[in-house]
Amino acid sequence: MTEFVVSPSPRVALPVVGSAALFPVRRVYCVGRNYAAHAVEMGHDPDREPPFFFQKNPDDLDPSGRFAYPPMTADVHHEIELAVALRSGGRDIAARDALAHVWGYGVALDMTRRDLQGEAKKLGRPWEVGKAFEGSAPVSPLISAEAVGHPERGAVTLHVNGELRQQGDLDQMIWKTPEIIAELSRFFRLAAGDVILTGTPAGVGPVARGDVLEGAVEGVGALRVEVV
Ligand code: MN
Repeated sequence: MTEFVVSPSPRVALPVVGSAALFPVRRVYCVGRNYAAHAVEMGHDPDREPPFFFQKNPDDLDPSGRFAYPPMTADVHHEIELAVALRSGGRDIAARDALAHVWGYGVALDMTRRDLQGEAKKLGRPWEVGKAFEGSAPVSPLISAEAVGHPERGAVTLHVNGELRQQGDLDQMIWKTPEIIAELSRFFRLAAGDVILTGTPAGVGPVARGDVLEGAVEGVGALRVEVV
Protein backbone atom coordinates (compact mmCIF):
# COMPACT_ATOMS: atom_id res chain seq x y z
CA MET A 1 0.00 0.00 0.00
CA THR A 2 1.24 3.50 -0.86
CA GLU A 3 2.33 5.56 2.08
CA PHE A 4 2.17 9.36 2.10
CA VAL A 5 4.26 11.80 4.09
CA VAL A 6 1.09 13.83 4.84
CA SER A 7 -2.55 12.69 4.66
CA PRO A 8 -3.80 12.90 1.06
CA SER A 9 -6.91 15.02 0.44
CA PRO A 10 -10.03 13.04 -0.45
CA ARG A 11 -10.89 12.71 -4.14
CA VAL A 12 -13.60 15.19 -5.15
CA ALA A 13 -16.71 13.38 -6.41
CA LEU A 14 -20.15 14.68 -7.33
CA PRO A 15 -23.56 13.10 -6.77
CA VAL A 16 -25.41 11.70 -9.76
CA VAL A 17 -29.18 11.73 -10.37
CA GLY A 18 -30.70 8.27 -9.98
CA SER A 19 -27.52 6.54 -8.84
CA ALA A 20 -25.56 5.93 -5.66
CA ALA A 21 -22.36 6.04 -7.73
CA LEU A 22 -20.43 9.32 -7.82
CA PHE A 23 -18.73 11.25 -10.64
CA PRO A 24 -15.00 11.58 -9.84
CA VAL A 25 -13.68 15.04 -10.70
CA ARG A 26 -10.28 15.56 -12.31
CA ARG A 27 -10.13 19.20 -13.50
CA VAL A 28 -12.50 22.15 -13.80
CA TYR A 29 -12.37 24.34 -16.90
CA CYS A 30 -14.48 27.44 -17.41
CA VAL A 31 -15.39 29.41 -20.53
CA GLY A 32 -15.34 33.21 -20.32
CA ARG A 33 -17.71 35.44 -22.31
CA ASN A 34 -19.54 32.68 -24.14
CA TYR A 35 -22.83 34.62 -24.35
CA ALA A 36 -22.73 37.86 -26.35
CA ALA A 37 -25.11 39.74 -24.03
CA HIS A 38 -22.94 38.94 -21.01
CA ALA A 39 -19.76 40.01 -22.86
CA VAL A 40 -21.47 43.31 -23.63
CA GLU A 41 -22.60 43.84 -20.01
CA MET A 42 -18.97 43.33 -18.92
CA GLY A 43 -17.83 46.01 -21.37
CA HIS A 44 -16.51 43.81 -24.19
CA ASP A 45 -17.27 43.40 -27.89
CA PRO A 46 -18.05 39.72 -28.58
CA ASP A 47 -17.43 40.26 -32.31
CA ARG A 48 -13.82 41.24 -31.65
CA GLU A 49 -12.94 39.03 -28.67
CA PRO A 50 -13.77 35.33 -28.85
CA PRO A 51 -14.50 33.30 -25.69
CA PHE A 52 -11.52 31.97 -23.73
CA PHE A 53 -10.69 29.59 -20.90
CA PHE A 54 -9.73 29.74 -17.26
CA GLN A 55 -9.76 27.14 -14.50
CA LYS A 56 -11.12 26.49 -11.07
CA ASN A 57 -9.96 23.76 -8.71
CA PRO A 58 -11.72 20.39 -8.44
CA ASP A 59 -12.50 20.99 -4.76
CA ASP A 60 -14.12 24.35 -5.59
CA LEU A 61 -17.10 22.31 -6.83
CA ASP A 62 -19.66 22.18 -4.04
CA PRO A 63 -22.89 20.17 -4.15
CA SER A 64 -23.90 21.11 -0.57
CA GLY A 65 -26.48 23.78 -1.44
CA ARG A 66 -24.70 26.31 0.77
CA PHE A 67 -22.33 29.05 -0.42
CA ALA A 68 -20.18 30.56 2.31
CA TYR A 69 -19.61 34.27 1.54
CA PRO A 70 -15.84 34.33 0.91
CA PRO A 71 -13.20 36.59 2.46
CA MET A 72 -11.28 39.47 0.82
CA THR A 73 -14.24 40.76 -1.20
CA ALA A 74 -17.26 43.02 -0.99
CA ASP A 75 -18.71 42.14 -4.41
CA VAL A 76 -19.44 38.47 -5.07
CA HIS A 77 -21.43 37.83 -8.25
CA HIS A 78 -23.55 34.89 -9.41
CA GLU A 79 -23.03 33.37 -12.88
CA ILE A 80 -25.41 30.53 -13.76
CA GLU A 81 -23.96 28.01 -16.23
CA LEU A 82 -24.42 24.63 -17.87
CA ALA A 83 -21.81 22.16 -16.60
CA VAL A 84 -20.49 19.44 -18.93
CA ALA A 85 -18.93 16.32 -17.37
CA LEU A 86 -16.55 14.23 -19.49
CA ARG A 87 -16.38 10.43 -19.60
CA SER A 88 -13.22 10.42 -21.72
CA GLY A 89 -10.98 12.88 -23.50
CA GLY A 90 -7.83 13.30 -25.50
CA ARG A 91 -6.08 15.94 -27.56
CA ASP A 92 -7.24 17.65 -30.74
CA ILE A 93 -10.78 16.30 -30.56
CA ALA A 94 -12.86 17.14 -33.63
CA ALA A 95 -16.10 18.99 -32.87
CA ARG A 96 -18.07 16.26 -34.68
CA ASP A 97 -16.64 13.64 -32.28
CA ALA A 98 -16.81 15.75 -29.13
CA LEU A 99 -20.17 14.72 -27.70
CA ALA A 100 -19.05 11.08 -27.51
CA HIS A 101 -16.73 12.23 -24.71
CA VAL A 102 -19.56 13.71 -22.62
CA TRP A 103 -20.83 11.63 -19.70
CA GLY A 104 -23.50 14.08 -18.63
CA TYR A 105 -24.53 17.53 -17.54
CA GLY A 106 -25.29 19.64 -14.50
CA VAL A 107 -26.24 23.13 -13.37
CA ALA A 108 -23.47 25.16 -11.78
CA LEU A 109 -22.73 28.62 -10.46
CA ASP A 110 -19.42 30.29 -11.34
CA MET A 111 -19.30 32.46 -8.22
CA THR A 112 -16.91 35.35 -8.76
CA ARG A 113 -15.21 37.86 -6.48
CA ARG A 114 -15.89 40.56 -9.08
CA ASP A 115 -13.90 43.25 -7.28
CA LEU A 116 -10.78 41.06 -7.21
CA GLN A 117 -11.34 39.94 -10.81
CA GLY A 118 -11.73 43.57 -11.91
CA GLU A 119 -8.49 44.54 -10.22
CA ALA A 120 -6.69 41.58 -11.83
CA LYS A 121 -8.00 42.59 -15.27
CA LYS A 122 -6.86 46.17 -14.75
CA LEU A 123 -3.38 45.06 -13.68
CA GLY A 124 -3.06 42.31 -16.30
CA ARG A 125 -2.83 39.66 -13.58
CA PRO A 126 -4.28 36.12 -13.47
CA TRP A 127 -7.87 35.58 -12.31
CA GLU A 128 -7.45 32.91 -9.65
CA VAL A 129 -8.16 35.15 -6.67
CA GLY A 130 -11.40 36.25 -8.31
CA LYS A 131 -12.53 32.86 -9.56
CA ALA A 132 -10.86 29.86 -7.92
CA PHE A 133 -11.71 30.05 -4.22
CA GLU A 134 -13.22 27.39 -1.96
CA GLY A 135 -16.88 26.74 -2.69
CA SER A 136 -16.79 28.98 -5.78
CA ALA A 137 -18.62 26.45 -7.95
CA PRO A 138 -21.89 25.27 -6.37
CA VAL A 139 -23.22 22.46 -8.56
CA SER A 140 -26.34 20.32 -8.89
CA PRO A 141 -26.25 16.54 -9.00
CA LEU A 142 -25.06 15.51 -12.47
CA ILE A 143 -27.39 13.74 -14.89
CA SER A 144 -26.25 11.37 -17.60
CA ALA A 145 -26.48 12.14 -21.30
CA GLU A 146 -28.11 8.75 -21.53
CA ALA A 147 -31.02 10.25 -19.58
CA VAL A 148 -31.21 13.77 -21.06
CA GLY A 149 -29.40 13.58 -24.39
CA HIS A 150 -27.14 16.46 -25.42
CA PRO A 151 -29.10 19.69 -24.90
CA GLU A 152 -28.57 22.30 -27.64
CA ARG A 153 -31.29 24.68 -26.52
CA GLY A 154 -33.19 25.34 -23.33
CA ALA A 155 -33.67 28.21 -20.91
CA VAL A 156 -30.83 29.07 -18.54
CA THR A 157 -32.23 31.02 -15.59
CA LEU A 158 -31.27 32.27 -12.17
CA HIS A 159 -33.69 33.60 -9.57
CA VAL A 160 -32.43 35.41 -6.48
CA ASN A 161 -34.95 35.42 -3.61
CA GLY A 162 -37.67 34.56 -6.13
CA GLU A 163 -36.78 37.38 -8.55
CA LEU A 164 -35.55 36.55 -12.08
CA ARG A 165 -32.00 37.93 -12.49
CA GLN A 166 -30.39 35.93 -15.28
CA GLN A 167 -32.09 34.58 -18.36
CA GLY A 168 -30.66 33.13 -21.54
CA ASP A 169 -30.78 30.04 -23.68
CA LEU A 170 -28.20 27.38 -24.46
CA ASP A 171 -28.64 28.22 -28.15
CA GLN A 172 -27.11 31.66 -27.42
CA MET A 173 -23.73 30.15 -26.53
CA ILE A 174 -21.07 31.50 -28.93
CA TRP A 175 -19.13 28.23 -28.66
CA LYS A 176 -21.57 25.30 -28.41
CA THR A 177 -20.61 22.30 -26.28
CA PRO A 178 -18.84 20.38 -29.12
CA GLU A 179 -16.84 23.49 -30.08
CA ILE A 180 -15.85 24.12 -26.45
CA ILE A 181 -14.51 20.57 -26.14
CA ALA A 182 -12.73 20.78 -29.50
CA GLU A 183 -11.16 24.15 -28.73
CA LEU A 184 -10.17 23.20 -25.17
CA SER A 185 -8.54 19.96 -26.40
CA ARG A 186 -6.19 22.00 -28.59
CA PHE A 187 -4.70 23.49 -25.41
CA PHE A 188 -5.05 20.64 -22.90
CA ARG A 189 -5.29 16.87 -22.89
CA LEU A 190 -8.84 16.28 -21.68
CA ALA A 191 -9.76 13.22 -19.64
CA ALA A 192 -12.55 11.43 -17.82
CA GLY A 193 -13.60 13.45 -14.79
CA ASP A 194 -13.07 16.86 -16.36
CA VAL A 195 -15.91 19.31 -15.76
CA ILE A 196 -16.47 22.32 -18.01
CA LEU A 197 -18.53 25.36 -17.00
CA THR A 198 -19.76 26.74 -20.31
CA GLY A 199 -20.25 30.44 -19.60
CA THR A 200 -23.07 32.60 -18.29
CA PRO A 201 -25.89 34.58 -19.91
CA ALA A 202 -26.47 38.26 -19.09
CA GLY A 203 -27.78 39.51 -15.77
CA VAL A 204 -24.90 38.76 -13.41
CA GLY A 205 -24.99 40.64 -10.14
CA PRO A 206 -24.04 40.69 -6.47
CA VAL A 207 -25.22 38.31 -3.75
CA ALA A 208 -25.54 38.86 -0.01
CA ARG A 209 -25.69 36.57 3.00
CA GLY A 210 -29.21 35.19 3.35
CA ASP A 211 -29.93 35.21 -0.40
CA VAL A 212 -31.43 32.11 -1.94
CA LEU A 213 -30.19 31.40 -5.48
CA GLU A 214 -32.28 29.13 -7.66
CA GLY A 215 -30.71 28.22 -10.97
CA ALA A 216 -32.02 26.01 -13.73
CA VAL A 217 -31.06 24.72 -17.14
CA GLU A 218 -34.12 23.49 -18.99
CA GLY A 219 -33.86 19.79 -19.73
CA VAL A 220 -30.90 19.32 -17.39
CA GLY A 221 -31.81 20.19 -13.83
CA ALA A 222 -31.94 22.77 -11.10
CA LEU A 223 -29.77 24.07 -8.30
CA ARG A 224 -30.76 25.77 -5.03
CA VAL A 225 -28.08 27.53 -3.03
CA GLU A 226 -28.30 29.55 0.15
CA VAL A 227 -25.67 32.23 0.75
CA VAL A 228 -24.44 31.93 4.33
MN1 MN B 1 -18.51 32.23 -15.78
